[in-house]
Amino acid sequence: MYRITLIPGDGIGPEVVDAARRVLEATGILFEWDVQEVGEAVIPKYGTPIPDHVIESIRRNKVALKGPITTPVGYGFRSVNVAIRKALDLYANLRPAKLYPGVRSRYDRVDLIVVRENTEDLYAGVEFEAGTEECRKVINLIRELSGQPIREDSGISIKAVSVTGSRRIVRWAFEYARKNGRKKVTAVHKANIMKFTDGLFLRVAREVAQEYPDIEFDDRIVDNLSMQLVQRPEEYDVLVMPNLYGDIISDLCAGLIGGLGIAPGANIGDEAAVFEPVHGSAPRYAGQNKANPTATILSGVLMLRHLGETDAADLVERAVAEVIREGKYVTYDLKPTRDDPTAVGTREMADAIISKMQELRRAAEVAAGRAG
Ligand code: NAD
Repeated sequence: MYRITLIPGDGIGPEVVDAARRVLEATGILFEWDVQEVGEAVIPKYGTPIPDHVIESIRRNKVALKGPITTPVGYGFRSVNVAIRKALDLYANLRPAKLYPGVRSRYDRVDLIVVRENTEDLYAGVEFEAGTEECRKVINLIRELSGQPIREDSGISIKAVSVTGSRRIVRWAFEYARKNGRKKVTAVHKANIMKFTDGLFLRVAREVAQEYPDIEFDDRIVDNLSMQLVQRPEEYDVLVMPNLYGDIISDLCAGLIGGLGIAPGANIGDEAAVFEPVHGSAPRYAGQNKANPTATILSGVLMLRHLGETDAADLVERAVAEVIREGKYVTYDLKPTRDDPTAVGTREMADAIISKMQELRRAAEVAAGRAG
């Protein structure tokens, strides 16, 4: 029995999370779901979109499955998602991008792992608004210290990349590669321009790579990598990078494998892990039983692997792959055209995956019976 924090989120969140919960329960593993509400809807009750008891729940259970959450505007919170990652120091954002046969794609084979640093860089939210007293002070200080001209009417966002943060994320990527039979880690950066942040990241990555002689290491400048991923994604394996590039490159990778509807993710720290799809709350589709549940179900597969439930993870992943390959019981985004009348809903696709799991399990039992 696993006790898991379950955050349905908002928009399409509750629908895709319910689909994933049913698929996970169909593995036969027992889960006790500690359901927690967050986001704009809870502000009237708690005065914040992310009450402390939600963070405490994740800390206690150590594992959460989470739906997307709309970022409320104007409550002093940049994003509930960023707040959770920060509060629990979930420093590794794992975003696999794997092409399943049956998905319409320009490629034959894509099997990439994006490892994104999740706590630093321009995403840390250290910003100064143009025209404010603080911003003027920062501009004056920078002028004084660097001798560089900065326009008076500039806004400022600070990019801080530390040795500590870089070392732990690059190590995490190498450990992941080793545990998962991956051959190569590529560090992604813009070290030619930003010598003291990306340059530091690259230097640390090179140092860490020395500790892993069994895994190939190379590096790419982020713009060059973007072009190469589009031309030859099969040449890459594990990609590790600072926060901002990770956000952009992982969406690019989602595009290579059929879109956001099938791109899973995980935010992992030393004490807790939160599994969630890459996509957001897609408010346009909320409550319509239209959204593709695959990204959340595959996030559940990452969760099962994290829990050491490898057989269950393999079963769910094979069932998802089969349903996608057959192409019948899939949502609109996996059909040849977006208005295909044969597209099924979120619930029906999850039902098809559950039926496929039962079918695969029966076939395995028959095969085992024959072998016996
Ligand atoms: P989005 O990912 O919600 O949607 C973009 C488009 O992608 C949708 O219009 C839809 O066409 C497609 N799409 C996304 N998920 C899909 C699915 N499961 N099935 C089929 N199609 C799908 O991005 P957005 O519109 O930029 O963001 C909406 C809200 O979500 C914002 O408030 C944003 O802050 C938030 N957001 C939350 C998270 C998170 O909770 N981790 C992540 C990203 C965005």
